Amino acid sequence: MTSQEIRNQFLEFFKSKGHQIVPSAPLVIKNDPTLMFTNAGMNQFKDYFLGNKNPQFKRIADTQKCLRVSGKHNDLEEVGHDTYHHTMFEMLGNWSFGDYFKKEALEWAWELLTKVYKLPKDRLYVSVFEGDKGDNLPADEEAKNIWKTMIPEDRILYGNKKDNFWEMGDTGPCGPCSEIHIDLRPQEEVDKVSGKELVNNDHPQVVEIWNNVFIQFNRQWTSPSAPTELQQFELNYKGNKTEKTYSIERTKKHLQLTTLKELPAKHVDTGMGFERLCMAIQKKQSNYDTDVFQPLIQFIATASGKRYGEDKWADIAMRVISDHIRAISFTIADGQLPSNNKAGYVIRRILRRAVRYGYTYLGFKEPFLYRIVPVLANQFAQVFPELKAQEEFVAKVVKEEEAAFLRTLDNGLRRIEQIKSEVKNGVIDGKTVFELYDTFGFPLDLTALIARENSLQIDEKGFAVEMEKQKERSRAASSSETGDWIEVVDEDEVQFVGYDELETYSRILRYREVKAKNKTQYQLVLDKTPFYAESGGQVGDTGYLEANGEKVFVTDTKKENDLIIHFTDKLPSDLQAQFHAVVNNSKRLQTMNNHSATHLLHAALKEVLGSHVAQKGSLVNENVLRFDFSHFSKMTEDEIKRVEKIVNQKIRENIVLDEKRNVPIAKATSEYGATALFGEKYGDFVRVITFDPAFSVELCGGTHVKATGQIGYFKIVSEGAVAAGVRRIEAITADKAEQLIDEQAALLSELKELLKQPKDLRKAVENLLEEKAQLSRQIETFHQQEVQAIKSQLLGKVQQSNGIAVIAEKVNLPSADSLKQVAYELKAKIENLFLVLAANIDGKPQIAVMISDNLVKEKNLHAGNIVKELAKEIKGGGGGQPFFATAGGTDVSGLDKVIEKGRSLV
Ligand code: ATP
Ligand code: MG
Repeated sequence: MTSQEIRNQFLEFFKSKGHQIVPSAPLVIKNDPTLMFTNAGMNQFKDYFLGNKNPQFKRIADTQKCLRVSGKHNDLEEVGHDTYHHTMFEMLGNWSFGDYFKKEALEWAWELLTKVYKLPKDRLYVSVFEGDKGDNLPADEEAKNIWKTMIPEDRILYGNKKDNFWEMGDTGPCGPCSEIHIDLRPQEEVDKVSGKELVNNDHPQVVEIWNNVFIQFNRQWTSPSAPTELQQFELNYKGNKTEKTYSIERTKKHLQLTTLKELPAKHVDTGMGFERLCMAIQKKQSNYDTDVFQPLIQFIATASGKRYGEDKWADIAMRVISDHIRAISFTIADGQLPSNNKAGYVIRRILRRAVRYGYTYLGFKEPFLYRIVPVLANQFAQVFPELKAQEEFVAKVVKEEEAAFLRTLDNGLRRIEQIKSEVKNGVIDGKTVFELYDTFGFPLDLTALIARENSLQIDEKGFAVEMEKQKERSRAASSSETGDWIEVVDEDEVQFVGYDELETYSRILRYREVKAKNKTQYQLVLDKTPFYAESGGQVGDTGYLEANGEKVFVTDTKKENDLIIHFTDKLPSDLQAQFHAVVNNSKRLQTMNNHSATHLLHAALKEVLGSHVAQKGSLVNENVLRFDFSHFSKMTEDEIKRVEKIVNQKIRENIVLDEKRNVPIAKATSEYGATALFGEKYGDFVRVITFDPAFSVELCGGTHVKATGQIGYFKIVSEGAVAAGVRRIEAITADKAEQLIDEQAALLSELKELLKQPKDLRKAVENLLEEKAQLSRQIETFHQQEVQAIKSQLLGKVQQSNGIAVIAEKVNLPSADSLKQVAYELKAKIENLFLVLAANIDGKPQIAVMISDNLVKEKNLHAGNIVKELAKEIKGGGGGQPFFATAGGTDVSGLDKVIEKGRSLV
């Protein structure tokens, strides 16, 4: 069975059991401060479990792109070294939201694995929750009894809370889980050691393939509504305890503070590792031997001239690259570019890990990863078409990143050469190893490897200390404490009315306190809100809540998953009151102008530059709009002008907004022709924003003008590069554009006034420039005449002394250049010359010393040394060659002394 068939069979199977098949959510998560990347199939359904939103379907199944490279789930260091953990993998999942429960979930899982996929029953093990005293929970006998009808009892294992009880966070939905493991070892080995001993023991051929989680409880704070501040503090206070002690103590404390409540609606959440499943069905010993990875591995092997399976380190490198290129490509296709912070930095680090394995073990000294992108794109064209659609762009981004890192690597290697010469006792100290890590992106193992090749050691402890120091620094910089939600009204439904109204009457449903950097803020959830929460690049609304004559200002509005959160600096004194919720009108209107203008700009760019233009990011606020898009070269002046012209034309057409809400996503793209934005999570229903169906149709949750005329005027203020293949335009509209034009007009009239209101301003400026050029030429002539005059004066002042022609004079010259000129001309005229000139040039003392070449040799003189000595008199310094030198200073009153001293030297 090919991997393609295995995936399809999974989806078909659950479809036949009444499940709705949904697309994978993007890898990159927006609007969730606790998570950067999707790391499990359930992420996109979090709101359903939390009760923030009602699911569209009660049964859902999908294949979800997951990335486990940061936070709670981080498998990065294992990847490539083992054969069954990936950075990016597909998680096949089925869900029941308050519908079926354990019986159906486990029976279907068994049916699919043993009947459809025909996996051998005598190689499968299952685990169930053994219970937990602290939580007062018995073992999951219900699950065990279901399993007993399908599988011999000795293949059912009990697992502890760590392996078999799933929790989302400190509080919230949770429940026991049941894992399915498979033993893929050859029969001889199975005969020797039972697979039972190896389950959950990091054996590469006895692996977990599927986890069925039963969301059965809600964990809640026990005390009235939430822990007291002291309790909360005790719970999270780590002090200088070790990770292990802290974790044990925290678990105890957590248990004391919380209780489990049976949920009225019980859910099923399952996740099966697709690549591991393929390994099992295709009877392989490693995920990398399946047809999911072999095309990539073979491509890499051919390019490197090595064969897979011959050399341990080359094999690891091929696995690392074939794995990482998937993570990198799909994340970029989902909208996350490599960068220097947060999610972008994680991607950059994965890419660098791949580059250095290729560099070190496969000899790739030139960019190489980008060449795999097309292979991958074709492989996944049917399942995740977003990569195929952006193949050229993704490859370009990867190539530029690789090239930049290879340069860094080269610099780092050069730095290591230098370090080698400085090293004491053959050990590179921790600070230096950290510098290589931090500045050059050299991880510890690479530095160790290079050190070893050079018969050096590295100070790993010292490195760890530096690393800890840095972590401490960043912790201190970003520490904040978020309190728990405190319920005011027991209601979950939240209504957003901000597309139609800018004010309404609302009640507070819940609130919480957030402390960051000595500042306390509050976050409120309202039952009904006109406040637009920051998303899709558009800033959050500000405004106020008013009740009983008291106004509380809303300083920002943000989303957490789909929850709209209002930020305030204080809490209203009456939390139960009905509030008049009012959005800052003018800010919102200007923001809408900019947002609609962004759509017009996007469409205009496609017209002028071509259909490859795709949005790569945007920022829209009341002052400016910023639009990032894929395009490979700088825009010309002419292209910018044409784009502006089209946008302004569309503004003047005063096109009326056509807004359609709750459109099924398929209809939006097929019927209305909306461009799907990759990397956006739209849910099943989307909002379509159209300004002229033949011009701009976009899926968008933002707020827009009723008709384009309101935008008034559109002006691009800058165009530049942000990353490889990504350009950025900044533009302004309406008042702000008017203001810019006004300022420019005002500047023009000021200039006219300065020039005494000429009829033709351009002519007047040209005349002025011409006049200036003429005057400069005249001044130059005068200078030359002056120089010549002074030269002849000086010629008459030569004093012969011991065969040396001495001139030491204070002169009146206009510039340092003319001083030099006089000195050189006199040298050409007078033999055996010793010349000291001093001048006051615009208030600053200057000295020049010139000595004939023969004197320099014969008398061993050095103008540079002499000028230094003389410069003391003018409180300055200088230097030069043996025959000519100059000096400047600060004290003009010393010039006479300079001359006196100069003469006396001879
Ligand atoms: P493991 O203990 O093997 O790391 P897990 O307990 O972290 O697995 P879950 O969080 O339960 O796994 O995820 C569900 C399924 O996803 C697992 O049963 C496994 O098949 C798969 N899976 C988990 N992590 C990875 C990974 N890094 N690469 C590939 N598949 C994975
Ligand atoms: Mg894991």
